[in-house]
Amino acid sequence: MTLILEQALELEEIIVPGYEKVIKVTNKEVGLKAIICIHDTAMGPALGGTRIYPYATFDAALTDVMRLSKGMTYKSAVSEAGWGGGKSVIIADPKKNKTKEMLYAFGLAVDRLQGEYICAEDVGCTPADVLEISRATPYVVGLPHAKSSGNPSPFTAWGTFRGIQSVIKKMTGSDSMEHRTIAIQGLGSVGYELAKLLFWHGAQLIVSDIDASKCSVVAEMTGARVVPTVDILSEECDVLAPCAMGGAINPQTIPELNCKAIAGCANNQLLTDSDADELVARGILYAPDFVINAGGLINVTHELDPAGYHPMMARSKVHRLYDQLMVIYDIAEQNRFSTHRAAVSLAEYRLKYRIGKRIEPPCFHHAK
Ligand code: NAD
Repeated sequence: MTLILEQALELEEIIVPGYEKVIKVTNKEVGLKAIICIHDTAMGPALGGTRIYPYATFDAALTDVMRLSKGMTYKSAVSEAGWGGGKSVIIADPKKNKTKEMLYAFGLAVDRLQGEYICAEDVGCTPADVLEISRATPYVVGLPHAKSSGNPSPFTAWGTFRGIQSVIKKMTGSDSMEHRTIAIQGLGSVGYELAKLLFWHGAQLIVSDIDASKCSVVAEMTGARVVPTVDILSEECDVLAPCAMGGAINPQTIPELNCKAIAGCANNQLLTDSDADELVARGILYAPDFVINAGGLINVTHELDPAGYHPMMARSKVHRLYDQLMVIYDIAEQNRFSTHRAAVSLAEYRLKYRIGKRIEPPCFHHAK
């Protein structure tokens, strides 16, 4: 079977200015259509999850993977994780047409890049799926083995929680969650964990998800008020936490926002960079997405240490995302520009001077 899948694998490079390598992957034998996108490897091999999603068109998938992989470059640079930026997408409905053979064939494509790109879980791609991918390649993280970092979501949720504390601190001088209202859009792997953390720290919650059963579980556990998905962005709250898909903050939604700050885990929350300026104009403090949601990346990074993963190392670094965000708010204030621009400037400075560049090659313990 491996030989048949190898023979049917087609890798076609697409030239995209500003990106190191963009590869269209097809395997007709198993109906695989995917894109692997490497934005920049100045700091180390490109690392980023594999999203499995039923994109309406190839161009929609390409746009998404390009934005996501560039975001990984910036995320890694700001958090000094020592990775380049990369991401991949498989164009398929994860509930209907994801198969083991398709994942294996995707793994063969990752393997052809010989470690230039390292994949992991993402929306639609579970730890069981990355295990399937790993049967074809060692260049995978987040696998179930003794030295693995496991599920990144609790770490992303803790970093997001610390980010919410940072915006509250910036706005009020205290980072207490007591009597604060937080609206969460999306109660998936991260949103669910975040809701629990916020509840135990005294916050009032408003929640929404396209999956009503997820809302019921969280409402029962935390007393959260559930609102329809079309209403969550305009609910009156202290902090809006976008924890679903990208592009939630855009010219259509910004006038409707009724929050004082935005701090959530979703990637690419702004549809375009200029949306950050509109948030400034509306007096809404924004915790830049690629800074606040770096917890999962930081966690996985420690899995590839020569000594193997230790959760306490990852925890202390994720905890400090709060301080990183406070620095970014100060840079924005001093320069009178948006927090998004401040975070981009900081990332670009680190990229320019290679601050945080990987010196030791990653160690794939599961491949030994
Ligand atoms: P997930 O797929 O587990 O959860 C997403 C949730 O959002 C699902 O419950 C889905 O039903 C819901 N949703 C989708 N569209 C919605 C809408 N319009 N309104 C309300 N709910 C909606 O994904 P996740 O792992 O929790 O990740 C959430 C976001 O955070 C994604 O953008 C992801 O890229 C980003 N992120 C995740 C991690 C991580 O460690 N999992 C790390 C960094 C960034």
